[in-house]
Amino acid sequence: KSFEDLGIIESLCEACTLLGYKAPTPIQAESIPVALSGKDIIGLAETGSGKTAAFALPILQALMDAPQSLFGLVLAPTRELAYQISQQFEALGSLISVRCAVLVGGMDMVSQSIALGKKPHVIVATPGRLLDHLENTKGFNLRNLKYLVMDEADRLLDLDFGDIIDKILRIIPRERHTYLFSATMSNKVESLVRAGLKSPVRISI
Ligand code: AMP
Repeated sequence: KSFEDLGIIESLCEACTLLGYKAPTPIQAESIPVALSGKDIIGLAETGSGKTAAFALPILQALMDAPQSLFGLVLAPTRELAYQISQQFEALGSLISVRCAVLVGGMDMVSQSIALGKKPHVIVATPGRLLDHLENTKGFNLRNLKYLVMDEADRLLDLDFGDIIDKILRIIPRERHTYLFSATMSNKVESLVRAGLKSPVRISI
């Protein structure tokens, strides 16, 4: 199957070709049609499986239908992963001029606030720094958020981000789509699923 067969629109298929993606990986082939149908997803997949594009492509496609800022939020456990995810969003969304901002700890709050002022479509963040901006950056809120991704959920919880994520879940709109990806499932991940997802489809590869 091709990306087009999965329901991905032409400009995004073209970006995949430019990146050298010849065919969808198994997690992409399983997740993309489910995501495009509007359902929440639990994806059991490791780094290297192509999981980033599995959630980025459906979000970018939805963004094209309803272009607006602060459309998608990805929570990632580490700074490095957050930058990698943002780079993939920008590469896949290069033909549709998507704007991303990365909010991670250990980096300057002010330049991140300036990036937020440019109304990014997608934010990739570590949980602590995101909450810091929600509490301290004037004019920044997530009232329009349509898509939430919790990436590497098992690591997010191992790093004790659980309480902060609970706070974020209470702040963001209930009417949204949510994708959770994890390499492993545990009781903690399952309770995060119950707190954040609605009748999710489970996909494991
Ligand atoms: P990820 O698991 O999302 O970290 O992706 C691992 C690597 O695979 C990244 O460098 C992606 O650019 C690449 N990748 C993602 N999807 C595909 C695909 N369909 N074909 C070839 N490479 C891919």
